[in-house]
Amino acid sequence: MAVLEQSTSQKAIDLENKYGAHNYHPLPVVLGRGEGVHVWDVEGKKYYDFLSAYSAVNQGHCHPKIVNALIEQSKTLALTSRAFHNDMLGKYEKYVCEYFGFEKMLPMNTGAEAVETALKICRKWAYEVKGIENKQAQIIVCENNFHGRTTTIISFSNDPVARKHFGPFTDGFIKIEYNNLDALEATLKNNLNVAGFLVEPIQGEAGVYVPSDDYLIKAKALCEKYNVLFIADEVQTGIARTGRLLATCGNCSCPDKNCSGIPDVKPDILILGKALSGGAYPVSAVLANDSVMNVIKPGNHGSTFGGNPVAAAVAMAALEVVREENLAENAEELGQLFRSELNNYIETSSIAKLVRGKGLLNAVVINDDEESDTAWNICLALRDNGLLAKPTHGNIIRFAPPLVMTKEQLMECVDIIIKTLKTFEK
Ligand SMILES: *Cc1c(COP(=O)(O)O)cnc(C)c1O
Repeated sequence: MAVLEQSTSQKAIDLENKYGAHNYHPLPVVLGRGEGVHVWDVEGKKYYDFLSAYSAVNQGHCHPKIVNALIEQSKTLALTSRAFHNDMLGKYEKYVCEYFGFEKMLPMNTGAEAVETALKICRKWAYEVKGIENKQAQIIVCENNFHGRTTTIISFSNDPVARKHFGPFTDGFIKIEYNNLDALEATLKNNLNVAGFLVEPIQGEAGVYVPSDDYLIKAKALCEKYNVLFIADEVQTGIARTGRLLATCGNCSCPDKNCSGIPDVKPDILILGKALSGGAYPVSAVLANDSVMNVIKPGNHGSTFGGNPVAAAVAMAALEVVREENLAENAEELGQLFRSELNNYIETSSIAKLVRGKGLLNAVVINDDEESDTAWNICLALRDNGLLAKPTHGNIIRFAPPLVMTKEQLMECVDIIIKTLKTFEK
């Protein structure tokens, strides 16, 4: 008797389990293709992608304009290192600076590298401009932050799983409660050695925590008062995800109509990654004005791949798509629709507690304790119903589709989500 053929999916999962380090716990689905808001598994089943690779694929999977930029530049010149100039980097730097309204940028590859870069710039500024005594600089961070996975970055994480047995850790960080201006002011007042305040405009990984409306603007004002750099990690919130070009964005030079009336919270240091490439290539960047960025001199910092011609071409195409396709406006409009539809349902739901978010960065909190596997089981059921999402922390499910979604598609997804949640009602 013939042995049952293992599915293609199961084979792929088995290979990862056998040969790959077990540093993730993926939802059991094996994807082989993506286009726009959709992905397909290796058996050919089609899904709506409601994670967008943690908001890297804001422009949609395999966007033709971005893919074309990647292919064409790869065929022309892919890597020179920064030992020589290349004819794309300056163009790219000018484009990004004008796009976001800064005087200078420093190109890197991943989000964590860009955060590391921002921390190094901030410390150097503290010693060479602010005049803090050598090795005394402190950087304020927030509880439940997520800024990446390097040794220094996990030094100021409070996720025990991310930290255990990875010490000794890097000194020089003070952790305060998120969305607490009193804590920020008290820390600034009591410590003359503070160089910077590193903050996510919305805490994505922690479960899409949106701070109060005046938090960022008042935090920025406090930083100014105490001569401390306001460092915004917009790796996840940036590039149209939250309904405007940046979550800290007010009346900057961005093309977003929704900006009017929202006060400008311009960071001293802006950190970008993820959707800077539309997911086609690892591209990150740190932006600042000259008074800050000029502390960096030859030899201080770098990366072999940072600012390579392919990254430059891909990022410019990815940012053009955001503008051409009005992705910020679309995220704002669809986000409001998503939350209002889910709120209608939640009013009478015993399984969904609340929906929160901005633009198309949203989360639904499941009515069960944090250790339960209800949110995971809901994500498995969503998968079976053709929609891929993942719990962030315990009982919180993040919903962040590509921003190229149409209203009709969003309504279909709302139906799938509500239909699925209904099967879990107690
Ligand atoms: C994803 C993320 C990072 C880290 O980016 P990587 O490219 O995974 O290193 C940093 N900060 C925030 C807010 C993120 O969401």
